[in-house]
Amino acid sequence: MAKCQFRRKDSTRCRANAQPTNGLCVFHDPARAKDGLRARRAGGLSRTRAAAVLPIETPDHPLGTTKDVSALLGNSINQLRRGQIDPRVANAMGYLASVLLRALEQGPLEERLANLESILGKGSGGSQLFEFHGSDEATHGQTATTPEED
Ligand SMILES: [Zn+2]
Repeated sequence: MAKCQFRRKDSTRCRANAQPTNGLCVFHDPARAKDGLRARRAGGLSRTRAAAVLPIETPDHPLGTTKDVSALLGNSINQLRRGQIDPRVANAMGYLASVLLRALEQGPLEERLANLESILGKGSGGSQLFEFHGSDEATHGQTATTPEED
C-alpha cells in the first residue's frame, strides 16, 4: 500500500498508509481531519476511562480477622474475573490486604508480649517464671567480657 504524501516540517514523509483516493492518510486528509481527531479522542477516552469499581452502596466488608480478610480476597478475585473491579483496584486491594493481614497477625502477638512483660515486671526482686542468674554465671566463664582471675 502507498504511503501518505504528507511532508512534516522536518521534510520527512508521513509513514501512515495513504487512502487510494488522494494519496494522503486519514490524519492528513483535510476532509477527514475531523474523523482522525475523533478517533484519537476516543482512544484517549478509553484509556482514561474510570476504573471499574463496585457500586457505592456496596456494604463494608468485615476486616477484623485474618478470616475476614481472606474472605474478602476470595470475593475480590471472583469480582476481578467478572470485570466488576478493575485490575488496578484489585492490585491496590491486594497490597492493602497484605498489610492488614500482617497487622492482624502482629496484634495478638503484641498483646501476649505485653501480658508476659506485665507478669515479669510484677515481682521486681525475682520472677516466678524465670530465674535470672546474672552475677553468678559471669564467674563461670559464660560471659567473655570479664576474664577469670587466677
Ligand atoms: Zn499522513
